Amino acid sequence: MKARRLGAVAVAATLALTMAACGSDKGGDSASGGGKGLKIGIKFDQPGLGLKKGSDFTGMDVDVAKYVAKSLGTSEGDITWVQAPSAQRETLLSTGQVDMVVATYSITDKRKEKVSFAGPYFIAGQDLLVRSNDSSITGPDSLAGKKLCSVTGSTSAQNVQKKVPGVNLQEFGTYSECVTALASGTIDALTTDDTILAGYAAQDQYKGKLKVVGQPFSTEKYGIGIKKGDTALCQKVTDAIKKMVSDGSWQKAVDNNLGPAGYKPGAGNPPTPDACS
Ligand code: GLU
Repeated sequence: MKARRLGAVAVAATLALTMAACGSDKGGDSASGGGKGLKIGIKFDQPGLGLKKGSDFTGMDVDVAKYVAKSLGTSEGDITWVQAPSAQRETLLSTGQVDMVVATYSITDKRKEKVSFAGPYFIAGQDLLVRSNDSSITGPDSLAGKKLCSVTGSTSAQNVQKKVPGVNLQEFGTYSECVTALASGTIDALTTDDTILAGYAAQDQYKGKLKVVGQPFSTEKYGIGIKKGDTALCQKVTDAIKKMVSDGSWQKAVDNNLGPAGYKPGAGNPPTPDACS
């Protein structure tokens, strides 16, 4: 499993390099330049947030990314979408493989040591996804003796280990791997943001089979990751987020992307972005 994942990452990295070398990469010059292509890191496997289906990309993060790109002078067709698994996000930014990450990316002090953030543009909370016929898991306090799944490099994996010391946690590279394991019975619960969990529970193949517990136990402030210290870009992105909220596009994106799963944004939404520093 691990080798295969690393393989996929290597292939993606090589591809990115090859594209750049051939000059076919749309992700042009400095992101702050405007009017140029942008390479944007998103999730490819999170319905309602960042989902790749053929050559189509959908979700709240995709809509936020498109809106911000447009404000920077980049049209949709000049965006190169790059898969940004949780554990890869800081590296993708610091090596310049992407200009921005819009991928259910929580703003944390630890991450701020390596990257900068604009936002938050959304506030979610960590929850649990279980099989619908399982009434034994009602929150983080009932995880003793249960097999839990989350993703390497996520705040979800960190938070739950802090909250439930000694919890039996298996870490995969993506949440969709956890969902498959949950549906097949290999694990008992998946923990991450309620936004992500709602998207999986509403997928056709899992409808009626999986349920979100509904006891959020963290605050996840989604930011747009950029290269550390690019204050000029941070300011432009922050302005774009504010405008997205004030002109109604934020609410539209929420309704279109999270509405179908019955997800309602919790307290604090839409958030006011922090000042750039
Ligand atoms: N928002 C959390 C994080 O940034 C969990 C979701 C994710 O891994 O993308 O770690």
